[in-house]
Amino acid sequence: MREIVLNILCLEDNPDDAELIRHRLKKEGYKMQFVIVSTKKEYLDKIKTVTFDLILCDYNLPGYSGMTALQHARQICPDVPFICVSGTIGEYLAVELLKQGASDYVMKDQLDKLPFAVRRALKEVQEQTARHKAENELRKLSQAVQQSPVSIIITNEHGEIEYVNPKTTELTGYSSEELIGKKPRIFSSGEKPEEDYQNLWKTVSSGSEWQGEFHNKKKNGELYWEAASISPILDYEGKITNYLAVKENITERKEFIIELVKAKAKAESGDRLKTAFMNNISHEIRTPLNHILGFGQMLIEPDLSQDEKKEYYGILNAGCDRLMNTVNDYMDISLIASGNMEVHKRLFAIRNLLEEIYDKFLKTAQTNRLALILQTQPADSILQINSDQGLLRKALRHLLNNAIKFSKEGSVSFGFERKGSELEFFVKDTGVGISADVQAHIFDKFTQENASNTRGYEGSGLGLSIVRGIVELLGGRIWIKSAKGEGASFFFTIPVDIHGGEK
Ligand code: ADP
Repeated sequence: MREIVLNILCLEDNPDDAELIRHRLKKEGYKMQFVIVSTKKEYLDKIKTVTFDLILCDYNLPGYSGMTALQHARQICPDVPFICVSGTIGEYLAVELLKQGASDYVMKDQLDKLPFAVRRALKEVQEQTARHKAENELRKLSQAVQQSPVSIIITNEHGEIEYVNPKTTELTGYSSEELIGKKPRIFSSGEKPEEDYQNLWKTVSSGSEWQGEFHNKKKNGELYWEAASISPILDYEGKITNYLAVKENITERKEFIIELVKAKAKAESGDRLKTAFMNNISHEIRTPLNHILGFGQMLIEPDLSQDEKKEYYGILNAGCDRLMNTVNDYMDISLIASGNMEVHKRLFAIRNLLEEIYDKFLKTAQTNRLALILQTQPADSILQINSDQGLLRKALRHLLNNAIKFSKEGSVSFGFERKGSELEFFVKDTGVGISADVQAHIFDKFTQENASNTRGYEGSGLGLSIVRGIVELLGGRIWIKSAKGEGASFFFTIPVDIHGGEK
């Protein structure tokens, strides 16, 4: 039983013929709305107002021909199949009708052929509708791919590019001609390990989807980040015919995250710095201040012996020195950090500066039972350099202070060597040394090896970061060689204009 009711228009001026046609189709089992019209006017009215599934048309009509009726049908309802059912019209006209778009031509004395012609005409329409639908689907999908804001790449089963969408060419700077036939490795920045690619191919060639990120390279060498999903395309038998890569440019997102992580680390380190600063202030200011206040008070007590007065005054004086040093360190580090530390270069005799420093530290070294050694080449005794004497003095004093402070026995030696257009200064000691992990951030502010408030050494924890700041201001580098328990050697270079002395 056919379920569909066909809406058929029959243009026929002979009612008997029309009935014969209807009967023949009914006999075939078609369920129909069979509308009969006999004039041009009726015919045109119907095709303009009703949608039919099929038009059956006589050829010879009074004042109207099957050919003109066909032409009108093509204009008004081009998708409705048109079959001419007529007496003999001759081969020429029959062919002409088919050329003009008629689905078929059946002679009235061969009406048995009509069901076959109807079946074929309806099937053709069905197929055409399905084809249109498929074409529409395809057009929609291909437009979605074309206009997609993400990159889409299709390769063949060997991984050679067959298609890239406009986003891919826009992003990478390659034209599609440059990409087709190549492998997607053309985008590789070389950072991804080989085994990652092998893993990718293993996953997709086994039929699964691979998801991951690429740090890829554009044609102009610029790097970009992509989040990619790569999957196989299978045919009806489940065989892989292609691979599809859908990739989103995540460079901005990635950079944003990197910035966020950096900002977080900075904020955290700022926080740590603040805490360290507060602890440091509390220790390095309060301790000497307490000494100054306490021993100042004691100094005005009556009945003090001369020796006691001298001792108390000494302690008070040391407190003042320590306080002064701490305040100076804070001042220096803030000048360096804010870029306000000024450099005043002038010509001076370097040996004189080192001797002055030597004299200054000799007593402290001796008090600490350390040998203080100044090492320079005799040829450099009259060497003059153009640099900032004050800053150089400050850097060396910090290093010598530490060397003496952190050495219980042995010696502290300092000096410099010429290295091309640079002088390489050194301060070496035989003290406690510095472990490798502390060395890694020894030049950071407030870094102290045993940074608890109960540590046995005085100091703001700023000395080495001041030294580094000064060395960098003077255009040099600073580094350290040390091991725990084996003394420490600090080196720094400064580029100088050398005057005098043998080269
Ligand atoms: P401070 O000496 O005021 O603590 P510095 O920045 O000068 O601050 O030094 C930071 C830390 O580095 C010291 O607390 C100490 O732990 C270590 N240090 C610096 N110089 C030496 C040295 N010559 N020998 C051993 N440790 C040192």
